[in-house]
Amino acid sequence: MSPIKRETYDLVVIGGGSGGLACARRAAGQYGARVALVESSGRLGGTCVNVGCVPKKVMWNTASIAEALHDAAGYGFDIPAHNFNWNVIKNKRDAYIKRLNGIYENNLVKDNVEYIKGYASFASKNVVRIQNGDETEELEAKKILIATGGRPLIPSVSHVPGADLGISSDGFFLLEQQPKKIAIVGTGYIGVEIGGVFNTLGSEVTIFSRSNEILRTFDPIIKDTLLKEMTRQGVKFVPNSSVQELRAVGPAPAGIEGQGRPVSVQYTTSGEKKEEEFDVLIWAIGRSPNVEGLGLEEVGVKLGGGGFIVSDEYQNTTTDNIYALGDVSGVALLTPVAIAAGRKLSDRLFGPARFHNAKLDYNNIPTVVFSHPTSGTIGLTEPDARAKYGDANVKTYVSLFTNMYNAMTDHKPPTAYKLVVVGEEEKVVGMHIIGRGSDEILQGFAVAIKMGATKADFDNAVAIHPTAAEELD
Ligand code: FAD
Ligand code: NDP
Repeated sequence: MSPIKRETYDLVVIGGGSGGLACARRAAGQYGARVALVESSGRLGGTCVNVGCVPKKVMWNTASIAEALHDAAGYGFDIPAHNFNWNVIKNKRDAYIKRLNGIYENNLVKDNVEYIKGYASFASKNVVRIQNGDETEELEAKKILIATGGRPLIPSVSHVPGADLGISSDGFFLLEQQPKKIAIVGTGYIGVEIGGVFNTLGSEVTIFSRSNEILRTFDPIIKDTLLKEMTRQGVKFVPNSSVQELRAVGPAPAGIEGQGRPVSVQYTTSGEKKEEEFDVLIWAIGRSPNVEGLGLEEVGVKLGGGGFIVSDEYQNTTTDNIYALGDVSGVALLTPVAIAAGRKLSDRLFGPARFHNAKLDYNNIPTVVFSHPTSGTIGLTEPDARAKYGDANVKTYVSLFTNMYNAMTDHKPPTAYKLVVVGEEEKVVGMHIIGRGSDEILQGFAVAIKMGATKADFDNAVAIHPTAAEELD
């Protein structure tokens, strides 16, 4: 074991994902603080870059090309049968991510953040211990940020025997070949997105929902429209279901470990027992925070529901000078949220006096589900608005139509938009859209809604024609 080295930093950041990188770079690069960032996985970028948004979007783009090829006939193209090679895009995607890992490392150098590889834990309230193989290093820090993110939840084998024969979204990104028949458990963001990708690329997809809904927390216009459309596209939903047991029925594929294996799935649906075989089962039932092994108890950092770190609106934990943000805090598990919270924290801790109250406003955060077609949402759902303001004060404006793009195609996916407005001034408190391009449309409207736009403001903006978004004006 090498001798312990002690250095003193203004800030030590634990975790080199979206939130940790943003906070560290702003503190050191913009405000000149002495900052070290510790990352245990050996690659920077965290969940988003390595096993989240980025490789997911590559796969969504891949599926969108399959859709466009299918639509091409409607526009007069005679495209011969085409073969899709999963392994080609998998390898290109991996290479792209490797390049991004390098870019993130260079960015740390440019901003004078010291990058330390290893697993970090608390030796005391202001000392971070880093373990890297046999090497131990200790860093003294005036302030410490915990931005350790999370990992996919998989049921325990005592609860669901054979649960570990299934994979998670992490395993999805390891798949070397496209499975033909897939089971997905969970109907949140990941279940819907991965299910959509596989279905569009031609796999047979069955999604197990523990309710009779998908995207349960979304506005009805999104969840009902998407459930109907995914069903029409051939995705099989098993409502009110519970997976009871998994049994291996074939060998794991050769190559990279963690790609799952063929399983027989025993489940109940509306009380009835059933069993079916699949090439792979993917758990998409939420995420747990990476808090084990950090030594949080010894330094007084408290955990709340689901084991997420308790932090206030300023990202303060229950211990002075220790902060937490991003997925490990369990609020709005989204990359831009972690980035914005990280930057605001550095503004507050190291920025000029005018930023000393800086904090992220967690209201009206726009978010998109990369479904087929995409869905976007900001603000209150209609049921939440009615519960908050009372039925008499809430009004909705709904537009249902077929995108002009699909006038020429056989396949006519729906477009459905809803504005939720309150009071006499008709302030827009929620916008829920599903349809081609919703992922790109939402951002600009989010600015208007964040600024307090009313329905009249929407109406006063001259429409852009012919687009789908003009239906919102
Ligand atoms: P992470 O990015 O998870 O970073 C935490 C880092 O800490 C990791 O690199 C980890 O290795 C490291 N770490 C953990 N423990 C230690 C330790 N003790 N010592 C040192 N290092 C440690 N969000 C979107 O906004 N849009 C999307 O389209 C989107 N798609 C997603 C798709 C999938 C499949 C998944 C799983 C997530 C997706 N997300 C998306 C969510 C997004 O990825 C996360 O919200 C975001 O990455 C959280 O950032 P973070 O910094 O909090 O944590
Ligand atoms: P979500 O919280 O979105 O969804 C979890 C799903 O699993 C829900 O359908 C839930 O059902 C179901 N579920 C929970 N426990 C069980 C169980 N024991 N058995 C069966 N079903 C269960 O989590 P995800 O894993 O899909 O995604 C994690 C987070 O990552 C998201 O919340 C999101 O913040 C982020 N993300 C963002 C993306 C984006 O921005 N486009 C894309 C992917 C992820 P029920 O509805 O009944 O509670």
